[in-house]
Amino acid sequence: MSKAKAGERLPYLLAKLKTPRVLERLEQTAERARAESWPYEQFLETLLEAEVFARDASGARMRIRHASFPALKTLEDFDWSAQPSAERPLVSHLAQLSWIEERANVCFFGPPGTGKSHLAIALSLKACERGFRVAFATAQEWVSRLEQAQDRNQLETELRRLERYHLLVVDEVGYLPLERSAANLLFALVSRRYERGSIIVTSNRGFEQWGEILGDAMVAAALIDRLVHHATMITLKGKSYRLRERGLDVTPAAQAPSLRDSA
Ligand code: ADP
Ligand code: MG
Repeated sequence: MSKAKAGERLPYLLAKLKTPRVLERLEQTAERARAESWPYEQFLETLLEAEVFARDASGARMRIRHASFPALKTLEDFDWSAQPSAERPLVSHLAQLSWIEERANVCFFGPPGTGKSHLAIALSLKACERGFRVAFATAQEWVSRLEQAQDRNQLETELRRLERYHLLVVDEVGYLPLERSAANLLFALVSRRYERGSIIVTSNRGFEQWGEILGDAMVAAALIDRLVHHATMITLKGKSYRLRERGLDVTPAAQAPSLRDSA
């Protein structure tokens, strides 16, 4: 009777466990372990680490794809000297993401082209890398998504589904005024997420103008109240980076709220 060779069944077992990187590196790592007389623990650790790193990376890639960012912008390619009002230490602190664990929010204000969406995306990318689920859309897009759900009598289901995300980005609040019904949907979204999940909002209008944007001062006040209860506010100032790069400057002064970090 022939005795089974040691490790003969490993390819089968590793395939069954769905650990392709362990299988890939097995022979080479075993050789090295023998040559360098590794402890057994080091051998196992080396193999499992390769699998876990690869899984983390592909998970992050999937979350980034799923988030539907309009462009990939990072903190590393943000030019801080062009935007001193971005408060680098504060943004770096936000990049640690403890606010997402606390289900708190971040609001970026400032005129067009000052980097609001850039920073919102950059923080969101960090969140994806860290394992948080993120969804990005403009305020208009969120509203139409919720309108469609409402038309199918599925608003509640949709709001519940959105709870799966750790972070929603609501970009460009205030570029277009909203209908009363749309404002109510935006309010439903924000109030559903209150203390359940994080939101990043970007807006070219200060809160004092949100009554006008939302077409209803009461709805605006109730929405802002929930949004800012646990929130960090960052106001970007200055010229549009887009125009600045082209040597143009037609940006109006920032219409920024005086509110800051009410958390
Ligand atoms: P906003 O959302 O405030 O209108 P964006 O974040 O979309 O502006 O910025 C406009 C463009 O300029 C984007 O391509 C963005 O990457 C770039 N940009 C803005 N500010 C900076 C900055 N300080 N450093 C690098 N790129 C910037
Ligand atoms: Mg923007």
